[in-house]
Amino acid sequence: EQRPSQFPERSSLNAMPANSSKMSHILIIGAGVIGLQTAVTLLEAGYSVTILAKHWPGDESIEYTSPWAGAIWRTHALPDDVEQCDWNIQNYKHWMKIAEEEAEKAREMGIQRVPLTIFSDAPSLDPTSPSLWYTPHVHSFSSLPPSSLPANGAKSGHSFTSLAIHPVTYLRSLLSQAKGLGAKTISTELPTSSGFAHAVGEAMRCLNTAGGIEKEGEEEKEVVVVNCTGLGAHSLCKDASMYPIRGQALLARIHPTPAPQILLHESPPHITYIVPRMGTDLFLLGGTKDADNWSGEPTPEISESIVRRCEEMMRPWAGEEAKIEVLSEQVGLRPGRKGGVRVEIEEVEVGEGRKVKVVHQYGHAGAGYQNAIGSARKVLGIVKDILS
Ligand code: FAD
Repeated sequence: EQRPSQFPERSSLNAMPANSSKMSHILIIGAGVIGLQTAVTLLEAGYSVTILAKHWPGDESIEYTSPWAGAIWRTHALPDDVEQCDWNIQNYKHWMKIAEEEAEKAREMGIQRVPLTIFSDAPSLDPTSPSLWYTPHVHSFSSLPPSSLPANGAKSGHSFTSLAIHPVTYLRSLLSQAKGLGAKTISTELPTSSGFAHAVGEAMRCLNTAGGIEKEGEEEKEVVVVNCTGLGAHSLCKDASMYPIRGQALLARIHPTPAPQILLHESPPHITYIVPRMGTDLFLLGGTKDADNWSGEPTPEISESIVRRCEEMMRPWAGEEAKIEVLSEQVGLRPGRKGGVRVEIEEVEVGEGRKVKVVHQYGHAGAGYQNAIGSARKVLGIVKDILS
């Protein structure tokens, strides 16, 4: 059952018509989960949108984080960070509504409603812990009986109904929704060597030459740029507070295939998780959180450690005889940012006295999927203010 919420419903914000949408155009840089969700949110509000990016759904690159995500709903926010908590709950409600009420759409988008079990090294669950702020907002929260704990040192645990997203299916679906709503696309890499203003100028030139923007009579449309370049902002904006949080994981089968479920054990310095990949018999096994490590190469010792930790963790659920078959190793770099996500306006001079307003929206670290809706709605509000 859904518990009462302190967070307001946001559907009214999405439904508001964009009064100045005809005379304006939005150029989104980046086609990860943040850029694509923002595109869909702005298009649904009536804006015309072009997405410019180097990497697109289906591409695999260490410069493109979104395809490598575990992509589950599990909040990392604490109650004093009210905005992050709000964003997390917005995504929980959004995904849960699709999973529960629109089965076909959920399948197409790769959204799966599954139990999530979190094991802990703490001797017992402390219901007053600030980290459990979210329990009134999620379905079927309960603590685990000791008999359900794995033999991996975990001393307590809890579970609730969560969501597992198939990242590539989800990204493809967001792009297809954006195109269906009229988004145009430009595939190019913006230069990083001559400063951010030069890159924005290049983006504007691409927009004009690629025909992404039509003139309204003789009037120039006002263009607002939204910068959703993730870790790319480190070089594009010379933002020194951006840093990678490296995650290594394995795509694997478990024999015999158990029922879909997410298992997670945080035992610093280790994080161990098993996440189902909807529509397949595969699971993502992880993982690591290694700050300031830019390496895109998998490390064999880490893969061995992941298999060992996942075998211990999965026994009570998958059975004593269950075996892991590793199909591939993968590495992704979470876009970490000291000071948290950057959502703010910058006015950039792109030459010949022309100024362009840029809304930065990057640095979502290990929570870009579960923050995308709230973050995109915040940008929608900023864009409305700029253009009103
Ligand atoms: P990206 O996906 O990296 O997209 C950036 C875009 O900008 C790309 O299209 C790129 O081509 C473009 N770009 C950058 N620079 C330029 C340039 N110079 N010119 C043109 N285009 C450019 N999040 C969750 O919510 N839940 C999870 O369970 C979860 N698990 C994770 C597990 C792992 C192992 C990892 C690595 C991440 C995980 N995340 C999770 C975090 C999530 O994946 C990220 O927060 C999110 O993908 C960031 O998306 P983004 O759109 O900001 O960046």
